[in-house]
Amino acid sequence: METTEPQPLTVAPAWIERHCVVPDGFRKGDPFRLYGYQLRYLGAFYSVRGDARWDPDDPVLAPAFVYRRGLLVGPQKLGKGPHTAAHICLEGVGPALFAGWAGKDDGYACADHGCPCGWEFGYEPGEPMGMLWPTPLIQITAVSEEQTDNIYDALRPMIEEGRLSDLIRRTGEDFIRLPGGGRIDTVTSSAQSRLGQRITFAPQDELGLWTPTNKMTKVADIQYRGLAGMGGRASLTTNPWDPAENSVAQQQYESSATDVYRQFTQAPRHLSYRNKQERRKIHRVVYEDALRDRGGHIDLDGIEAEAADLLERDPGQAERFFGNRIVRGIGAWLPDGLWDAAEAAVEGVA
Ligand SMILES: [Zn+2]
Repeated sequence: METTEPQPLTVAPAWIERHCVVPDGFRKGDPFRLYGYQLRYLGAFYSVRGDARWDPDDPVLAPAFVYRRGLLVGPQKLGKGPHTAAHICLEGVGPALFAGWAGKDDGYACADHGCPCGWEFGYEPGEPMGMLWPTPLIQITAVSEEQTDNIYDALRPMIEEGRLSDLIRRTGEDFIRLPGGGRIDTVTSSAQSRLGQRITFAPQDELGLWTPTNKMTKVADIQYRGLAGMGGRASLTTNPWDPAENSVAQQQYESSATDVYRQFTQAPRHLSYRNKQERRKIHRVVYEDALRDRGGHIDLDGIEAEAADLLERDPGQAERFFGNRIVRGIGAWLPDGLWDAAEAAVEGVA
């Protein structure tokens, strides 16, 4: 072993940019370019342990990687839906597993994996190589169908409008069959019976809404067990949560586990979300390079308009959704307790 430092599986994000396309909007069908925050996330998610050993007869799956799961916390409209869709494509038909350390002249060739696009990726000697899951079983999971649809509706055109249509011939209304017998399904809390299935990848969305009350805590546990059995991994995406709800997002963020990668870009605490100028600074930080003036799709004025609108009705949610902050309940700036008293008073009136 020359090194024990973790090393990113660089073929993984490169494969995404080669094969995935923008799923909607004016640039629909154009190559999908990963934002800096997405590259950072995927770079960590596909970071291979420096001491990972390669045995072609018994490949190391999840344990080859530094992290067992990833948690991406971001504001509304950041692009988490297309990000997750691209991640699913990679886990479904791209090099998402560790396949040993590259020697001189090693490379990844699409032609070896049933993709006619002609792409070849040359590895640097000593960097990790990637391979496909033989039979990927992927469950897009969220509290409601509306939420799983957010991802699924980005996933279908991402496949249909680009090169992946040669690999995945048909995408269905409800699920997608993958070459080799794999499939991509959507599941919600109402599909308990299908949750026990052995899965290889679980994109879990809006994790801030997964609570003991709606039984999603149990769903998360079942999926983590299923993944552990298969050597698979989970990617968790969410807006910031309400700390009063004890969500799975909060548990995963606060747990002492060192093999959970957590990415949560926050603005300096002293900036007040109630002050328009400071709010703008907050948005500048949390939307990162998804901002239009940095080459992205997010218009600061548009975000401000929506945030200001929501602030009037539900300041806590506005600060969580657009300010990317963990804020309790609806009245962020009332001290805890005082808010409960106010709420009780309102209920009394009603
Ligand atoms: Zn290809």
